[in-house]
Amino acid sequence: MTAPRSVLVVGESLAGTTAARHLRTLGHTGPLTIIGAEELGAYSRPPLSKAVLKDPAADDTLGLALDGLDADVIRSPAVAADTRHRTVTTGDGRQVGYDALIIATGAGARRLAAPGQRGELVLRTLDDARRLRARLADAGSAIVVGAGFLGMEVASACAARGIPVTVVDADRPLERILGDHLSAEITARAAAYGIRFIQATGFATLTGDPVSGVALPDGTELTADLVVTCAGEVPSVGWLAGTNLADRLGVGIDHACATTVPGVFAAGDVTYLRGDGTRPDRRAPFWSNAVAQGRTAAASALGLAAPGPAQDDYFWTEVAGLTVKIVGRLPLLGEPTTVQGSVADGRALLTWTRADGTSTVVAYGLRKPVAALRALAATPLPPSP
Ligand SMILES: Cc1cc2nc3c(=O)[nH]c(=O)nc-3n(C[C@H](O)[C@H](O)[C@H](O)COP(=O)(O)OP(=O)(O)OC[C@H]3O[C@@H](n4cnc5c(N)ncnc54)[C@H](O)[C@@H]3O)c2cc1C
Repeated sequence: MTAPRSVLVVGESLAGTTAARHLRTLGHTGPLTIIGAEELGAYSRPPLSKAVLKDPAADDTLGLALDGLDADVIRSPAVAADTRHRTVTTGDGRQVGYDALIIATGAGARRLAAPGQRGELVLRTLDDARRLRARLADAGSAIVVGAGFLGMEVASACAARGIPVTVVDADRPLERILGDHLSAEITARAAAYGIRFIQATGFATLTGDPVSGVALPDGTELTADLVVTCAGEVPSVGWLAGTNLADRLGVGIDHACATTVPGVFAAGDVTYLRGDGTRPDRRAPFWSNAVAQGRTAAASALGLAAPGPAQDDYFWTEVAGLTVKIVGRLPLLGEPTTVQGSVADGRALLTWTRADGTSTVVAYGLRKPVAALRALAATPLPPSP
């Protein structure tokens, strides 16, 4: 493959800016255009559910600068793509051509409100976080719908402010990704931290207009000053309609971040790694994965070898005052081997080793450099009990 003359990156956030920076690092000197949809430009999202909810000063620490990249930045969303003629159309009517395209449009928050129902709060953007922070300032009670990592972080922020908070979900806190063993510990820890959990028998629906509560399938109705939906994310692929590039899971990619369309690559939360018969399709909407794929997509767009695997399995979260770092595949099933400390004491190093020899390592409330966790995850260990 000859190196492309012009590269277009759509999506100005972590995956997009990483790809753009890496294109230049790898020696791409031709035209580089970035299409973004947010007026604020690129910023980091993990602090939105942590420091930003606590302290307005954190707003100024989030920027992902594009300085010195010599890129043409267009801040108007892509609304259509024509992969035959290699153009992307923006909301303000521009048509941008490319030789290579990198799709990095991430995901939006999954919403639960009925059509026309107003006032649903979600947390995906800095504007969302500012709105939520303002509401936290005078809320006397809160409900969080969804007990995944985001829901538990929002609930932790409420509890840390002394706001009585109830989390509702059909699965226990973090159970879908961290499995039974850690979920049981985290549920108990969250309760002690002031987070009430209600396990619903199915989907909760939002009630009130504007939203003021939830109804559970068993007829239970709850109301609160603040109701926040943390029900996962939806890949931002509407602008790719008609291209065959995207489906329900997002944009399917291979290990080189290549899509099924020549000259088109993708990275970050918008993607899923296509299964190959031995493993299923897999989304990994996490920070380090967006970085790894941004780099890989840049290299592949230039016709160079990928710098590493197309999925990076490091993830961290902060729940009920505790930091949990995870390296390796999720979800976690069964019992771990305890390498150090004890989960009950809130400080432990744990490994889950599968029959195929791969391991997932968790630092639960324990300060450990990510490099040490990666090294442990790469060490052959006997299978977990
Ligand atoms: C509140 C919050 C907390 C998080 N905490 C953690 C954490 O603790 N640990 C962790 O590992 N991960 C965390 N994550 C996940 C992590 O932030 C994401 O994996 C990462 O942001 C993905 O980057 P991305 O560039 O692929 O997508 P995004 O960050 O979603 O960015 C996509 C960008 O594309 C833009 N876009 C969308 N459509 C278009 C269009 N049509 N045209 C142009 N631009 C478009 C969007 O506006 C956005 O700016 C968190 C996410 C959130 C929301």
